[in-house]
Amino acid sequence: SVKAKHIEVSGQVQGTGFRPYVFGLAQQYGLSGTVRNTTSGVCIHVEGPEFFIRSFLSELPETPPPLARIEKVLVEDASLEREKGFSIKTSGIASGLGTLVSPDTAPCEKCMEELLDPTNRRYGYPFINCTHCGPRFTIIHELPYDRPGTSMRDFPLCGPCRSEYENPRDRRFHAQPIACEKCGPGVFLLDAHGKTIPVADPISEAGNLLAAGKVLAIKGLGGFHLAVDARNSRAVSELRRRKNRPRKPLAVMVEDIARAESLARINGHLQKTLLDRRRPIVLLEKNSGFPLSPEIAPGLSRVGVMLPYTPLHHLIMNHVPGGALVMTSANKPGEPIIKDNDEAISGMTGIADAFLVNDRDIVARCDDSVLMPREGGEMAVRLGRGFAPLVLEVPLKGPAVLALGGQQKNSVCLLAGGRAHLSQHVGDLDSPAAVKAFEHTIRHLCRLHGVRPEVVAHDLHPDYAGTRYAKSLPGVTTLAVQHHLAHILSCLAENKHHGPVVGLAFDGAGWGPDQAIWGGEVLVCRWGSPDFIRAAHLSYLAQPGGDAAAREPWRMAVSHLFNAFGPDFKHLELDLLHDLEPEKTAFLTRMIEKKVHCPQTSSMGRLFDAVAALCGLSRFSTFEGQAAMELEALADRDSHAGYPVSWDPGSLPEIPVAPIIQGVAEDLLEKSPPSVVAARFQATIAELFSGVCGFVAEKHGIEHVALSGGVFQNRQLTHLMIRNLSRIGLKVLTHSKVPPNDGGLCLGQAVAAAST
Ligand code: ZN
Ligand code: ZN
Ligand code: FE
Repeated sequence: SVKAKHIEVSGQVQGTGFRPYVFGLAQQYGLSGTVRNTTSGVCIHVEGPEFFIRSFLSELPETPPPLARIEKVLVEDASLEREKGFSIKTSGIASGLGTLVSPDTAPCEKCMEELLDPTNRRYGYPFINCTHCGPRFTIIHELPYDRPGTSMRDFPLCGPCRSEYENPRDRRFHAQPIACEKCGPGVFLLDAHGKTIPVADPISEAGNLLAAGKVLAIKGLGGFHLAVDARNSRAVSELRRRKNRPRKPLAVMVEDIARAESLARINGHLQKTLLDRRRPIVLLEKNSGFPLSPEIAPGLSRVGVMLPYTPLHHLIMNHVPGGALVMTSANKPGEPIIKDNDEAISGMTGIADAFLVNDRDIVARCDDSVLMPREGGEMAVRLGRGFAPLVLEVPLKGPAVLALGGQQKNSVCLLAGGRAHLSQHVGDLDSPAAVKAFEHTIRHLCRLHGVRPEVVAHDLHPDYAGTRYAKSLPGVTTLAVQHHLAHILSCLAENKHHGPVVGLAFDGAGWGPDQAIWGGEVLVCRWGSPDFIRAAHLSYLAQPGGDAAAREPWRMAVSHLFNAFGPDFKHLELDLLHDLEPEKTAFLTRMIEKKVHCPQTSSMGRLFDAVAALCGLSRFSTFEGQAAMELEALADRDSHAGYPVSWDPGSLPEIPVAPIIQGVAEDLLEKSPPSVVAARFQATIAELFSGVCGFVAEKHGIEHVALSGGVFQNRQLTHLMIRNLSRIGLKVLTHSKVPPNDGGLCLGQAVAAAST
């Protein structure tokens, strides 16, 4: 008997070749009907013999195309429409939050073959793609995902491309971004002033410039990179000088896995991660004989490595003799990654020697994603190209929530319909350009999902850009969420654990309701509430100069010494005190004594800074977390016991910090090597806090501990913490998909607001 069914499929089904897949399947079973994209996914109407419809329905979720991810299939009876044959309909409009935007994807094998095949009409064409690969999120203005909704709408298809696009048997059937030399975008080489350099092959000429040590700005998928030959230390140093980026590690793009293996230790799992079609930057442990410039990641044990992720990158790599390029985001200091050609030329004057641009517009700015290996997998450090928007099931009901994240490493989150959508990394919101990008990201995310938020969550800090933005919105309920609570809730949300838990939040800085700078916190909390108990925290001490202390770790060293030894600390025979000008030390001491511009802090990040400075590491910090990363790199790998630091449950919530610094200073005075001191310090923190967690957990009858905050990017500390907590029978929740740093805050804020 002939029947008709109406089928709704939600998930990552647009821009993945899902409609052609449905088409093929319907043909196979001789069914008639239609398939179309909607803003809530894909909707299918089929008609035919009941038996064949049943086969069609059972096969549908079994063999979807590689990029597709089906979340839900809803089937209903429908009335017969007597369709002739099966067809793909142009998009209809529906509303909802069901569609997931598919990620930008590295060229597939077939496209790579064609790219390198001299007989193919797309031979050497840097924008080759198909249904299974190519740009997606970064070119989409709005859903449903169809060519007119992308920045490819400016490129009408030529005859041959059109017939591929329209042929259901072609692997480019309905591939929205397809193009060729004749009808699609092109690449152009521009000189330092933005004037076109007339060359036959801009890509090979770009390769020549790189080989000659020049700094090249290259337009990628989500923005511009600055590139130099990674073997050429002079070029790398010159890039650092021009970009005013003295120490912060630079990422490297290498030709292939073999080249990556020459740089860093890569096991089978990491190989798979590097080859993931979303092509993240992976922070890998450097080989002892690191063959590239030492200027790439000075003083660090890890280097960020990625493989080429566009056909253009593959083509450039063929022209770079060493097969390795430094690739760092092109941006002005404190501003987001540059995405437009004009912006690049004006913004990179004096920095880039030449520009390799193209005329396909980038819609959504997107930095490269960064992952860090950890036990049993990896942990996200930055969500960007390929990984954002990150979608997580969060079974909370209530009105749609927009959460605005923090001030540093900002990202935003939309929570509605039981799902959280985390945006790409926006960056630090300290410049007007960054705030503009932040607002654009919010609008893009809300438009893509057709959601109008009713509740807006933001950080408790009164001066954050997010707080100001929330206050400016008419007709919404706003909710301020404490920074460290948001950290812990982000970890709970990603682990689908509603609490209550003991949350260990270790980071640089977050505003406390007592106006102190928090950062070494033990909280008791659960999701769906902005309330929490501050069960314990590092005892307060002065942070002389406020933010300046975060950039100058020696200030925190002096403050901690003063706190631990009193004014006589000056007489300690510590290398750091010898190296510091006595006037500086005296000046800082007076500030602390008189409490001038000395906010109180319980920050774990600042404690790491102090210990790093005492161990002879950077007295100046040029990027957030530098001291903690360098301290980890320095720390001896053998296992060491911590300093005997006692704490008294009666003194809670205060955990005295002075004994930790006394242990470190006395060890240094006894001439222990700084590497051993660093290891003992990390062990001390892990022992001390697992003891406190055990006490708090027992008091509140809790079995789980959640670890969050940027300090947990320190792998050794995380490892020790997990080991110690497990030993006392506690279960530990950690991050993997969501960054532990401020990039994950928005998720935690959303989860705190969801119940209100
Ligand atoms: Zn392809
Ligand atoms: Zn064409
Ligand atoms: Fe934080």
